[in-house]
Amino acid sequence: MSVRGSLLVVDDNELNRDVLSRRLQHQGYAVTVACGGDDALALVSAAPYDLILLDVEMPGMSGLDVLNRLRATYSQTQLPVIMVTARAQGPDIVQAFKLGANDYVTKPIDFPVALARIETHLSHKWAVEDLRESEERYALAIDGANDGLWDWNLVTNEVHWSPRWKAILGLEPSEAGDSPDEWLTRVHPADVGRVKTDLSDHLASGSGRFESEHRMRHRNASYRWVRCRGAAVRTRAGAATRFVGSLTDITDAKVADALTGLPNRLLFEDLLDRALKRTARRRDYVFALLMLGLDRFRVVSDSLGPVTADQLLIAVARRLQTRLRSTDAVTPGGAGPQSEVASGFTLARLGGDEFTVLLEDIADASDAIRIAERLRQALEQPFIVEGNQVYTSATVGIAVSSTGYDRPEDMLRDAATALHRASAQGTARCELFDAAMRARAVSRLQLETELRNAIAERAFAVHYQPIISLRTGAIAGVEALVRWIHPQRGLVSPAEFIPVAEDTGMLVHIGRLVLSESCRQMVLWQEQFGPEAPSVVCVNVSCRQFAESDLATEIAAILRSTGLDSSRLHLEITESAFMGDMHAAQDTLSRLHSMGIDWSIDDFGTGYSSLSYLHRLQAGTLKVDRSFVSRMGREERGSEMVGAIMALAHNLGMEVVAEGVETPEQLAQLRRIGCDYMQGFLFSRPVDIAAMNRLIAAQPWRPSGDATAFEDILVTAPG
Ligand code: C2E
Ligand code: CA
Ligand code: CA
Repeated sequence: MSVRGSLLVVDDNELNRDVLSRRLQHQGYAVTVACGGDDALALVSAAPYDLILLDVEMPGMSGLDVLNRLRATYSQTQLPVIMVTARAQGPDIVQAFKLGANDYVTKPIDFPVALARIETHLSHKWAVEDLRESEERYALAIDGANDGLWDWNLVTNEVHWSPRWKAILGLEPSEAGDSPDEWLTRVHPADVGRVKTDLSDHLASGSGRFESEHRMRHRNASYRWVRCRGAAVRTRAGAATRFVGSLTDITDAKVADALTGLPNRLLFEDLLDRALKRTARRRDYVFALLMLGLDRFRVVSDSLGPVTADQLLIAVARRLQTRLRSTDAVTPGGAGPQSEVASGFTLARLGGDEFTVLLEDIADASDAIRIAERLRQALEQPFIVEGNQVYTSATVGIAVSSTGYDRPEDMLRDAATALHRASAQGTARCELFDAAMRARAVSRLQLETELRNAIAERAFAVHYQPIISLRTGAIAGVEALVRWIHPQRGLVSPAEFIPVAEDTGMLVHIGRLVLSESCRQMVLWQEQFGPEAPSVVCVNVSCRQFAESDLATEIAAILRSTGLDSSRLHLEITESAFMGDMHAAQDTLSRLHSMGIDWSIDDFGTGYSSLSYLHRLQAGTLKVDRSFVSRMGREERGSEMVGAIMALAHNLGMEVVAEGVETPEQLAQLRRIGCDYMQGFLFSRPVDIAAMNRLIAAQPWRPSGDATAFEDILVTAPG
């Protein structure tokens, strides 16, 4: 049982003392006893008591003397005192009240009566204390000059609103009645449900503090973000009788981007929502959403540091703002201020390097494109930040309300889709979201979902394509090429899903699967075919795998668990994998190198193909892209290009694989210019393990007897 209060029983009669204290303890009170006045005063000064039962008649110091001394320090509410007196002592009782006793009981004690009096005085004392506490809180709150205050009498259901409370909402001191509805009817429709629930929860819960952030309608019909805090004053039984609190306007903190001071995402979405509602009311109202991303912002922030990057963002914000304000930004063709196409704009920062512009009341999409183009051009002039001259450029995605939107997030998503498309294309700098884009986005989304499931179900197979030695005609290696086993579509080519998997980070999982699967298979081939087995398995590794996963550690683990020798695994890496972070790439490469793993540059000729680069990458092999090989035997000088690449590679000590060999002519020319290895449909498409087993066993391109390698194939080649 919890203690209901701490009492001090003062009586010189031991029997009285013990009987009373035992019965009170039984009721749940903590009871201390004192046998005389000195004893009582000493106890009170040592520890606080909630109430004292004080015998009037005691030897030495009388109860009245003790009371007199106590009242010098403690008020009636601080320390209630109930006098215990004999029935006949009327004058003493009068005297006791004069000295500040709260009440009296007579001997012999009628216990239920005594108990009722004790409880009455205690609950009064506590009610007063609670009130004082809340009054202290109230006084504290008043000091917070910016806060509005409210004081809600829950018994009469009247609320007093302070002048500042009204001012926050744009009301005059004389405005607003005393009903709680003055508050609740002003709460934003989207927030009011939550506020009401929180409110009734708080009043019912009996403890804690009320705190709520919500929007309230200002007199000018805009919404302000407010933080409302309060606490209920309760009776001992827990019923709330009064509810007092403050109101703070947090609009600025809530809606402004801290760095640029522009509206932030929250406010922007709110404005977007309002603009969308307006389109529903006014059929001629068209607006556009521009989403701007800075190209190469990461490069700037990586090379010049975050402080400079922040300064750049501030400067960009300022320049965009200025450009939007100048009439020619909103008046295409410089047709003069009368023909402004956009009647209003709002520039916001969503976060990172992403800015958005809401262009209101435009005629059609072409206005939006023109303005987007001007903003983009404005950002092409260099910025001076912290003494550095910084060049940046922007890409813009545009969504127009006439496409038909209900929700702000849909329109933002479409503008973002257009932005990503524009930056992916590299050349298109402004892109308007259109229906085809949406169809692509939807099917891409579906692909993503299906791919996620496929990863969970490990619905992938690895196929292998032989790589043939031009010198011996043997299957020198195999390239592992992943296939997605799709429930409806059968085997899906990686060309279709690798880009999506890479963007979403899923390729790391797929890549891990391919790596361990092909290493396992390689060990099986060695067991099955001995020296006839291909000597290497080539596994493609994407940029993202290279950059994000701890590739070297992962590969070490796979080699350990499969038991494959590191010289048997060969990685294929495209040049672009190194473009992001050369240092990190170099680090991964030297770890791979020390493990004894070799790699080739894949799709050579399609990327940057810089010579100095090639040298730094230390690849053992170069794979000439199919686009070069396909020109051989078709264009007059087709083989010269491949010949030049070959000479270069050989000079750097690299071997060369020609990809996509499809015709006997290509084979003949490759042989003539001294290519090392070939791969292509002329020999075999990528095939499953059973078919690959047959190829390894048959070695169909190795010369038998005195025939030369590829003799059968070359017979068909003209010339
Ligand atoms: P890639 O690395 O350039 O692989 C060669 C692609 O060319 C394969 O396409 C192959 O089937 C195809 N090919 C081979 N010989 C010929 C030919 O003679 N003519 C023609 N027209 N095509 C030929 P696939 O299997 O569709 O793979 C496409 C790309 O997907 C690969 O290009 C590679 O970049 C990527 N990829 C495949 N598997 C993986 C993987 O496990 N991980 C990663 N990261 N990427 C993979
Ligand atoms: Ca490859
Ligand atoms: Ca390739």
